[in-house]
Amino acid sequence: MTKKRINKIRSAAVSAILSAAVIISGQPPLTEPLISYADTQADLQKKIDDADAKIKELEKKIKEADSGIAANAEQQNIYWDYITTTQTKIDLVNEKVAAKQEEINQKENEITLKEAEIDAAQLLIDDTDKKIHDTELQISDLETQNALNLDKCCSMIHAMYITGSDDYLSILAGSSDFYDIFVRSEVTESINQQNLDFMNQLLSDIHKLEDVKDDLGKTKDKQKQDKQKLEDDKNALVKQRTDLEDAKTELDEQVKYYNDLNSGYWGKYNTYSAQIQDLKDRQANYQQQKKITQADREKAQKELEEEIRQAELRAKRNTVYDTGEWAWPLDLHFHLITTYFGYDSWRGGNHGGIDIGNSGIMGANIYASKGGEVIVAKTTYVPGKDYGMYVVIDHGNGYQTLYAHCSALYVKVGQEVNKGDCIAAVGSTGWSTGAHLHFEVRKDGVRQDPFNYVKLPTV
Ligand SMILES: [Zn+2]
Repeated sequence: MTKKRINKIRSAAVSAILSAAVIISGQPPLTEPLISYADTQADLQKKIDDADAKIKELEKKIKEADSGIAANAEQQNIYWDYITTTQTKIDLVNEKVAAKQEEINQKENEITLKEAEIDAAQLLIDDTDKKIHDTELQISDLETQNALNLDKCCSMIHAMYITGSDDYLSILAGSSDFYDIFVRSEVTESINQQNLDFMNQLLSDIHKLEDVKDDLGKTKDKQKQDKQKLEDDKNALVKQRTDLEDAKTELDEQVKYYNDLNSGYWGKYNTYSAQIQDLKDRQANYQQQKKITQADREKAQKELEEEIRQAELRAKRNTVYDTGEWAWPLDLHFHLITTYFGYDSWRGGNHGGIDIGNSGIMGANIYASKGGEVIVAKTTYVPGKDYGMYVVIDHGNGYQTLYAHCSALYVKVGQEVNKGDCIAAVGSTGWSTGAHLHFEVRKDGVRQDPFNYVKLPTV
């Protein structure tokens, strides 16, 4: 089929009879984004090396943290030993304190009992005092009666003296008291016997009461002695209690001393705990960083391996038709030009590229004509319109190439490709009536005649 033939057929109704080699293409506007170049092998290798260095550094830090944790744990163990030893002492002394307190309580009970005994003894003394007082009152009463009787006797003696009895003068002169007078002199015979008996009885009663009083006095002395003994006992108990309390105070001080000591040890222990926790936190952070870095390294490693694989593939391929800077975008035997660049009367306008449409081209490899970055890799399209599935590669210096109507794309936007890399498969998507490659070369956004850049293969 030829261009002349295509020009003759304008109606859509007859376009269906066009053979696979009859090719027409649409040309959408030139608005494609620019994307930065991907990492080169060297960049990827540097990434890996940097990651290795970082991992090594992190592993060193993790190991250092381990050493730090071990050292702190060792110190912590030392203080833990101190704490348990001291706690044992505290428990022991506390037991002694409790025993001492028990003794003090017991002593307190003894003192209370002794005080009750003292109170009872005092009651006895009070009772005796009362008895002494009563006896004294009785004695006083008897002495009063006796005095009255003596007065009566004196009156009688006086009367005898007045009558002139000689005996009485001598009696009076040799007597020391009136009682002796009555007892010794004969005058007693003349005194009423009843009265004398009464007086004798009184004197006897007084003497008896005096004896009773003496006995009571002795009893009181004895009771006072008993009470004093009780007081002494109580004082001894109080002294013992004081001694116990002093001993307990000493033990309390020991407990306080050991508790203070242990507070200090706990302070140290907690400090080491905090340091260990801090080191563990840091270590966890290093581990996390290491994990991230390892993932980055793995990613870079895979990318590098892919780069190397691609490079090896390119090196193996020697069928690339290379006229220097630009390569033929297909295997060399695909070189039937069905539409050239420039004005096309059938289309009624300019054709922006060249159409290559050999028979059997469907699915054939499409190669990057020059190295660069994929800036368009469009897989969605409207059937019957525009480029269909297509790729645009940016080569720098304002140059781009376009590969349209593909049946499959092997590259993604942002991917860097080298000249001769397989980027897509020939198809008939978009505005196309049969399998062909629509190939464009653009300079600063203006479509150029591709044959100014690529050479038509002759094989
Ligand atoms: Zn075309």
